[in-house]
Amino acid sequence: MITKEILQIRSDIENNLRKMLARAVMVTELDVFALPCGCSGITVNVRGLELDDIEVFEEQMLSFFKDVASRLEVPSSFIFARLIPGSSVVAAINWRVLCDRCYPEFATASGKMPRPDIYIMHFERRGEKGDGKKR
Ligand SMILES: [Zn+2]
Repeated sequence: MITKEILQIRSDIENNLRKMLARAVMVTELDVFALPCGCSGITVNVRGLELDDIEVFEEQMLSFFKDVASRLEVPSSFIFARLIPGSSVVAAINWRVLCDRCYPEFATASGKMPRPDIYIMHFERRGEKGDGKKR
């Protein structure tokens, strides 16, 4: 991953969301992260995005986010929106590659919102790898 590329991807995400929603949405920061537990991934900090937008455009957003993940060479097995708790404001979109310790926490959760601050857009259970059959 090179810095020029993540700059380009930041702006592509912003432009894509703006086009999709016909509204000003800002991607304020695109971050790569690694946690002590072994999880890693990408965080896209956004401004101007609401949970409603994701629910309405979920399919388009997801297919776009999967493309972005592959451009960044990040597996898109787990994609979620992080909300400001108690509100419908989306603070960030995350692609997270779960470590073995964190995986069960999400694998056993049911529904799209296992926590008030997390809205799951896509979660692949281990052993049922995304092989492109799911459209
Ligand atoms: Zn972890």
